[in-house]
Amino acid sequence: MHLDIPTLTLVSLLMGIGASIGFTSLMTVLYTQTVLRIWVASIWIGTVGITLIGLRNHIPNSLSIVLGNGLLVLANVLTLRGIAHHLGLPWRWRWPGCLVIAYAGCMAWFAYVTPSLGTRLMIGSLQAMAFNFAYAYLLLRYCAPAIRISCRIAAAVMLCNGMFYLVRSFMPLDPSSGQDIMLAGTPVAATYVIGILTGLASYFALLQLITERLMVDLNRAARTDGLTGLLNRSAIVAEGRASLARCQQRGQPFTLLIFDLDHFKQINDRWGHDAGDAVLRHVTAVLRDVTHWPGHLASRYGGEEFVLALPGATLAQGLDVAERLRHTLAHSHARIDNQPIPVTASIGVAMARADSRFELLVRQADEAMYRTKFDGRNGVSSADADDMGLAEAGDSRC
Ligand code: GH3
Ligand code: MG
Ligand code: MG
Repeated sequence: MHLDIPTLTLVSLLMGIGASIGFTSLMTVLYTQTVLRIWVASIWIGTVGITLIGLRNHIPNSLSIVLGNGLLVLANVLTLRGIAHHLGLPWRWRWPGCLVIAYAGCMAWFAYVTPSLGTRLMIGSLQAMAFNFAYAYLLLRYCAPAIRISCRIAAAVMLCNGMFYLVRSFMPLDPSSGQDIMLAGTPVAATYVIGILTGLASYFALLQLITERLMVDLNRAARTDGLTGLLNRSAIVAEGRASLARCQQRGQPFTLLIFDLDHFKQINDRWGHDAGDAVLRHVTAVLRDVTHWPGHLASRYGGEEFVLALPGATLAQGLDVAERLRHTLAHSHARIDNQPIPVTASIGVAMARADSRFELLVRQADEAMYRTKFDGRNGVSSADADDMGLAEAGDSRC
């Protein structure tokens, strides 16, 4: 089998164009993904770079060697920029910009001043190796736990790419190739074949990074209340059930609080709906400040009603958290246009029995909360001991 570099260059080029078109068309549906735009720019610029290098014998060296290689390193810089953005890392253009110019200058030097195809190939390969190792380092060092699967897979692909370019930088050239990369010989041609494979793997790794991030974002959005950032009703029911089941299996207590803001409608009526929203966010901030219980689940259950699940907490501990919450709320004011708006809550607390279902616990806490309303609001009540089937419970966490 004869490996022909011009043909392989054409295949790389077609693959680059196909990937560029594919990634660009993806932008039509994933237009909110800034990182996709950066990587699309990187892939198009890389493809133009490969085209210019492939036209080696048909265009001036300044375009083919200097500009072509300059565009390839710019594409790598943009890929790195995208990875930094994906991982939420800061970015400055100064050093990468200098690197692109220095690299293009270096290529010009070994094209015009001391022409050497071997040196250019080695510098190009070492540059690509360094970038791939840098991608892998950032992905392994800075990935958030939620997206670690795609980060690890992408890092593995980039590490393989880096190793490939390391080997490629020592590939012997055909002595008769002169200054023409198209005549570099079979060992170099073989690296083109592997380069096509690693290039494809890189595209899929980038896609996987975007996909996992989207899945995490969608999952979070589906579980979260948009106004407060707390769990929404369906999420607290699902996670509360699972947490309660774990506590029941381990014979540990589980206590639930429901609290409803008092006369909240009057706040809306007097100050407006936006002020009402601001009060809901203020209550959320207080809830977060007061609750440090390990493994707790906090949720906006409905309009101005909140649920707090305390796995491992006894009724006494739940009442203690409830009282601190009530007290802090009553002594803190939401501020609208620098005007203080007082807010209080009525709280109901219930502890699970060994066979309670989560929904039953919510109902018991809700009934206790309505007793607080009936007793004058701004207070804490617990569900009837008979209803809860209270037993002695330790304070172990689950
Ligand atoms: P009570 O002390 O008996 O609980 O009285 P209340 O006024 O708090 O209760 P009511 O059920 O009469 O009114 C609740 C109000 O909460 C009515 C509704 O407009 C308002 N509300 C529900 N969701 C939101 C929201 O997301 N933002 C705002 N601003 N108001 C909301
Ligand atoms: Mg209310
Ligand atoms: Mg209500």
